[in-house]
Amino acid sequence: MRVTFAGVGEAFDETVPNTSLLVHSGGSSVLLDCGFTAACAFWGMADNPLALDAVYISHFHGDHYFGLPALLVRSIEEGRTKRLTILGPSGIESRVTRLMEMAYSNAMARAQFGIFFVECDPGQDFRHAGFRFRFAMTNHAMPCQAIRLDDQKTSLFYSGDGQSTADTLALASGSDLVVHESYTLEPEHVGHGSVTASVDFARKAGAKACALVHLQRTVRRERKAVIRARANGVTDMKVLLPEPGDIHIL
Ligand SMILES: [Zn+2]
Repeated sequence: MRVTFAGVGEAFDETVPNTSLLVHSGGSSVLLDCGFTAACAFWGMADNPLALDAVYISHFHGDHYFGLPALLVRSIEEGRTKRLTILGPSGIESRVTRLMEMAYSNAMARAQFGIFFVECDPGQDFRHAGFRFRFAMTNHAMPCQAIRLDDQKTSLFYSGDGQSTADTLALASGSDLVVHESYTLEPEHVGHGSVTASVDFARKAGAKACALVHLQRTVRRERKAVIRARANGVTDMKVLLPEPGDIHIL
């Protein structure tokens, strides 16, 4: 499995795109979250953007799904013909349909591809595009589902937004890479993760590596050296503070 960090930022960071991961395995690819500023970043980093199999939306905050109109309309302009699957929480189809209507009404009438919507719930366990998909609820300001993707050999956990829960820890158990929302350095905000909590979570999950994403913009700007030093001091697993475009092979 290959993970490309298309974006690593929080909602409104002017320096890095919204957190979004492009995951490849075999000939398949899935994009995890697609916020306002993530769609164009995806286009710049994907080897073959028109081959994308699926987009997973963790929750309905704009920095996690308002990039879909840009992704879809550019796909139309560039002649996509392959069906695209969009997975997300209950209501994903009506949300995306309304979003497209507001952003580019009637654009989908020109599309030469269909969209297949899948509503995801905790406890579901299914295979799609060569990946095994599973989910668990985080603790966030609105319902958010962390996701675990497994291919034949390796596994990735991505938190979406929010603090970990007993369910997300169970989901992440034994995964190769935990990518976790880490809004602040220490736990400060109910409903958000932190650097300290993410490293602790990944260690408890027995992960081989932990990537810290979605840092609050001033924390990322002013505390990056502290976080890197702390990451380098962890000896029992690899701790990453990825930059946009970084690739991690599992
Ligand atoms: Zn959120």
